[in-house]
Amino acid sequence: MFRNFKLVPNILFGRGCFGQLDEVVAGRRKSGKDWAVFVVDDVFKGKDLETRIPLHDNDFLLWVNIADEPKTGYVDKLTLEAKNFNPALPCAVIGIGGGSAMDLAKSVSLMLTNEGSSTAYQGWDLIKNPAVWHAAVPTLSGTGAEVSRTAVLTGPEKKLGLNSDYTVFDQVVLDPELTAGVPKDQHFYTGMDCYIHCIESLQGTYINEFSKAYGEKSLDLCRQVFVDNHPDSADKLMMASFFGGMSIAYSQVGACHALSYGLSYVLGTHHGVGCCVTFDTLDEYYPEGVKEFRTIMEKTGVDIPRGVTKDLAGDQMETMISVALGLDPLWENCLGKDWKRIMTRDKARSLFEKM
Ligand code: NAD
Ligand code: ZN
Repeated sequence: MFRNFKLVPNILFGRGCFGQLDEVVAGRRKSGKDWAVFVVDDVFKGKDLETRIPLHDNDFLLWVNIADEPKTGYVDKLTLEAKNFNPALPCAVIGIGGGSAMDLAKSVSLMLTNEGSSTAYQGWDLIKNPAVWHAAVPTLSGTGAEVSRTAVLTGPEKKLGLNSDYTVFDQVVLDPELTAGVPKDQHFYTGMDCYIHCIESLQGTYINEFSKAYGEKSLDLCRQVFVDNHPDSADKLMMASFFGGMSIAYSQVGACHALSYGLSYVLGTHHGVGCCVTFDTLDEYYPEGVKEFRTIMEKTGVDIPRGVTKDLAGDQMETMISVALGLDPLWENCLGKDWKRIMTRDKARSLFEKM
């Protein structure tokens, strides 16, 4: 069975292209009553970017806070706020921010047209109705959320995305200038998320020429950014993120992502930092990648938290292991069909204990 891969149909790229967002959204405004929702990371409150959001009179500026990464309860609350603002469907939902804000925008655009709680749609192809037209404006590069067919959400029972063709953005606006204010630590963590996507995709058993073509280019760009300190690094990392996302879309991530999901489910660890903490323990599976990762870490001068699992209660550790080992395709990609014999609960525990 081959996946019929849904792609983002429209992409703007270039420094300053954010200035064209108004024109792009204008194409969605068919009557004077049409309104748009801008789902914006509240880190931009009071910043220059806020003044540049092309808000029209009927539009709704929905600030989102991402102290916690997206949860189903928060998505439901935001969707209700948009419905209360105007009961008619908006003509566009535009997400501005990092992976979290983009996933919230995807989720709200889906939940405006699909009944009930977003918890009911965590999984694969459970979404019934097409979303409201939705666009992404990344302000932080690395996750690949701008191209993926998922919106990662933590729910009461699981951390699992809204995976569907309807999730894919209708428009992406890639303006590298918008990443200028990202703090150094965050730049490293989210950049390494991209680097790890490439390593896990390229070294996985699911690898194919499609994923390899994107993964190799993305890895090359990551190296230009983090090893060579290239002057155009914002532009390069934005394209690395996009290509990294394209690479995993037709393959899979691996051990690092599986374990990091366990970590973040139990401890709330943010995705980028969780991937770094996890990857640092995986010499056995990705020896060269981990070695290069450590060189990059040293070069950038950013350190990762240590001892994060040392105070865990026994049942928390068991939950962490269960969440991580529940992600079959990731393990199969990393270790092959026989993965259950290799990645036992005890082995997973020993890896978590190193973090
Ligand atoms: P993020 O969106 O969680 O943001 C991290 C921090 O950076 C926040 O404090 C944010 O306010 C800040 N920030 C963002 N842009 C900034 C800017 N220009 N200037 C200053 N600060 C800025 O970080 P992320 O690593 O991009 O995203 C992680 C999220 O993405 C997680 O929720 C993860 O589950 C999700 N994710 C989704 C996919 C997908 O395919 N949908 C893939 C990987 C990760
Ligand atoms: Zn990731």
